[in-house]
Amino acid sequence: MDLGIKGRKAVVTASSKGLGLGCARALAEAGVDLVMNARGAEALATAAAAIRSDFGVEVTEVPADITTPEGQKAVLTAAGDADILVTNAGGPPPGMWSDWDREDFIKALDANMLTPIALMKALLPGMCARGWGRVVNITSQSVKAPIPALGLSNSARAGLTGYVAGTSRQVAPQGVTINNLLPGIHATDRADSLDKGVCDAEGITMEEARARRAGTIPARRYGTAAEFGSACAFLCSEHAGFIVGQNLLVDGGATNMTL
Ligand code: NAP
Repeated sequence: MDLGIKGRKAVVTASSKGLGLGCARALAEAGVDLVMNARGAEALATAAAAIRSDFGVEVTEVPADITTPEGQKAVLTAAGDADILVTNAGGPPPGMWSDWDREDFIKALDANMLTPIALMKALLPGMCARGWGRVVNITSQSVKAPIPALGLSNSARAGLTGYVAGTSRQVAPQGVTINNLLPGIHATDRADSLDKGVCDAEGITMEEARARRAGTIPARRYGTAAEFGSACAFLCSEHAGFIVGQNLLVDGGATNMTL
């Protein structure tokens, strides 16, 4: 399917690996020029070079921590008048409700709520003025059904979801859509580190931990970054202009609900 976005420009934050990279590659495949970001310059350069070579689009690399004001400024300077924004950042660490203090919440809110809001606030005016724009925020299945050990993530992402619910209705009249993509378990470094925690706690192998987790997913496997990226590219496409303020689960059926 021609996504109708060839020649547009997208910012994808936290995109040298994993789900962010999946989104960047899917947009590049649709002919979109990119601003890519991650803290580690080397992995970012490798990912960007592969995209240039595979898809022939322009890629600007911005090595920076997107959760800091300086990192956001650097990314936004490179972004210019971008038509598409995909927000992403690392997830907060797991723990128990009794572990977290004010500072832990501030850090999680900064990374997973206030950073995407700052990027939207900076780029939405241009999108609205031009009458076309797409924003996709990578959040988590924990927005729909809590993952108890991820209390910091549950809290921060719920806040972002509330913001998007209202804001998406305010910018829709100008041809701009904002939606959230909610990943379930995908085969990325993040999933490896969660599985490693299970291995260490229970004295089982990585294979056993992965098989056990995959067994809880109706699709009986982990998702791939490529298929997650395809869902993102569709939401950023010309065809998705009537999809506003939605929270789309990409989780192999793992979240057990009717609606
Ligand atoms: P990942 O494989 O660990 O990749 C994270 C990417 O983000 C890397 O490119 C990393 O590069 C970059 N990054 C992390 N923190 C950053 C920061 N502060 N500033 C700029 N770049 C940063 O993670 P993932 O699995 O793709 O997960 C992406 C998001 O989806 C996370 O928020 C995660 O919690 C959420 N999620 C993932 C899953 C899953 O199963 N994978 C499920 C639900 C939710 P650098 O380290 O070099 O910065």
